[in-house]
Amino acid sequence: MGKNLTKRSEDYSKWYNELVSKADLAENSAVRGCMVIKPYGYAIWEKMQAQLDKMFKETGHENAYFPLFIPKSYLSKEAAHVDGFAKECAVVTHYRLKNAEDGSGVIVDPEAKLEEELIVRPTSETIIWDTYRKWIQSYRDLPILVNQWANVVRWELRTRMFLRTSEFLWQEGHTAHETKEEAIKEAEQMMHVYAEFAETFMGVPVIKGVKTDSERFAGAVETYCIEALMQDGKALQAGTSHFLGQNFAKAFDVKYTTREGKQEHVWATSWGVSTRLMGALIMMHSDDNGLVLPPKLAPIQVVIVPIHKGEEQLDAISERVNPLVKELRSKGISVKFDDRDTYKPGWKFNEYELKGVPLRLAIGMRDMENNTYELARRDTLSKEVVSADGVVERIEGLLDEIQETIYKKAVDYRDSHITEVNNFDEFKELLETKGGFLSAHWDGTTATEDKIKELTKATIRCIPLNFKEENGVCVYSGKPSKQRVLFAKAY
Ligand code: AMP
Repeated sequence: MGKNLTKRSEDYSKWYNELVSKADLAENSAVRGCMVIKPYGYAIWEKMQAQLDKMFKETGHENAYFPLFIPKSYLSKEAAHVDGFAKECAVVTHYRLKNAEDGSGVIVDPEAKLEEELIVRPTSETIIWDTYRKWIQSYRDLPILVNQWANVVRWELRTRMFLRTSEFLWQEGHTAHETKEEAIKEAEQMMHVYAEFAETFMGVPVIKGVKTDSERFAGAVETYCIEALMQDGKALQAGTSHFLGQNFAKAFDVKYTTREGKQEHVWATSWGVSTRLMGALIMMHSDDNGLVLPPKLAPIQVVIVPIHKGEEQLDAISERVNPLVKELRSKGISVKFDDRDTYKPGWKFNEYELKGVPLRLAIGMRDMENNTYELARRDTLSKEVVSADGVVERIEGLLDEIQETIYKKAVDYRDSHITEVNNFDEFKELLETKGGFLSAHWDGTTATEDKIKELTKATIRCIPLNFKEENGVCVYSGKPSKQRVLFAKAY
C-alpha cells in the first residue's frame, strides 16, 4: 500500500511538502510565497478557528473588522514598528490599469497614482490605534477587547507552506486598557489561552516564555510566546502575545480621562496565531503513512468503508450503517460513510490513512453475519473487531484515547529533547546530533545571542516562564547568568 511518501528519516522537509500536497491540504499558487488552501486543509483551519473564536469570546472579546490597506505614513508613527516591518511590506501605488497603446496588454495608468501610497497590512496595530483614538475618551470606554480574523501580507523571502507564507490567515487581538497591570494580565492571559488550545485541541505541547530583545515584536515592550518542538528537533513559534505598553497610544495620541480626572495614554496588547498552526499540527503527529490528526480537529473523525460485491450487498450494508451514522452524528461525531463504487476499499483505506482520519470502520459480509465491524486506529495503525452493539461507545472511548495518546507521545518526545548544556562544544555537538531545545545559561546580551546564531544557526526561542533561578555562567561568553534559556534551530 505504498503512499509514495518520502520517509521522514530520509528527508523531513521533502516529506512535509509531499504530505501537504498528497493529503490535499494546500498547494503552491502562481504567486510566489502564496498558497491555495484546499477544502480538506481549510476544513481543519475552520475547526481551529471555531475553537479559538469560542475561547476568545469566553474571555470577553468581540470580533470586528478593519481595512486591508494602511496609509504608508501610519506605519512610520511608531519607530520600532516601522523598523521591523518596512522590509517586508507590499505597497499599493496606483489604482487603475489601462490598455497599452501598442496593444501589448494592460499597463499601470501613470495618471492613476495614489496621492498617498498604501501598504497591505502586515499587522494592524497602526490602523486600529488610529481608530481607537476616536473610540476612547474616558476610563468608561475601557477596556476595549477586540479581535479580527483576517489575512495579512509580509513579503517573506524564504517561504514554506503554512509555516511561513507571504500572505497568511490569522487572527489579531488588539486590546486597550486603563492600567499597565491590566494590559500585562491580558497579554499573559492570551498566551495561556493559546497554550491551552495547542495542548488540549491540537495535542501540541508548548513551552511558555518571553522573547529576548532581538526576537521581540517590533513595537512591543514584552512578547510572550508559545514554542513547540517538531519531530525533526526544530522549534516552531506557535503563537505570540504582546504587551505594547503605551507605544501605540503615544504614536497615535490615544489618551483617556482617568478616574482622577487626569489625561493619560492608554495601555495596549496585541496577540495572534496564524495558519502556521496548521504546519505545527501536520508536523507534530504525522508519520510515513501520512497525516495523523487529533480527533478534536479532524474534519472527519470516523470513516465507514463498505466491503461488498454488487448493489444488493451494498444495500444490505447501508441498512445497517445508516442508523449508526445517525446515532454518531447525534453525539456530535463527524462521520463519513464512503459508499462510492468508483473506488475500491483498498484505495479508500489508503486515502483515509493519508488524510489522517482518526478511526476507520470497515464492514463486509462476514461482519454482517457476525454483527461486527472492523475498527482501525490511525495513530497506532492497530485493528480490532468490535460487536455492532457496543460500537458507538467504543468509538467515543477511542476518540478520547487517541487524542490523549498522540498528545502524550508529543510530550514524551519534547521532554526527551530538552537538554541541559554547560559548554559551547557540547552545545554545538548536541545541536547537530540531537537537536531539540538546549537549555543553557546566557549572559543576557544581544551581542552573545547574535554570535551564537551566526556560529550555529540556533536562536533563543524563549526565556521560559516557570524556570527556576540558578546561578551559572554563559555558555558562550563565560559571563555570569541567573537563568537558563532555551536555544534551538527554528522554523
Ligand atoms: P507576530 O505578529 O509577528 O507576533 O506574529 C503573529 C503570529 O503569526 C505568530 O504566531 C507567528 O508565528 C505567525 N507568523 C508570523 N509570520 C508568519 C508567516 N510568514 N506565515 C505564517 N505565520 C506567520
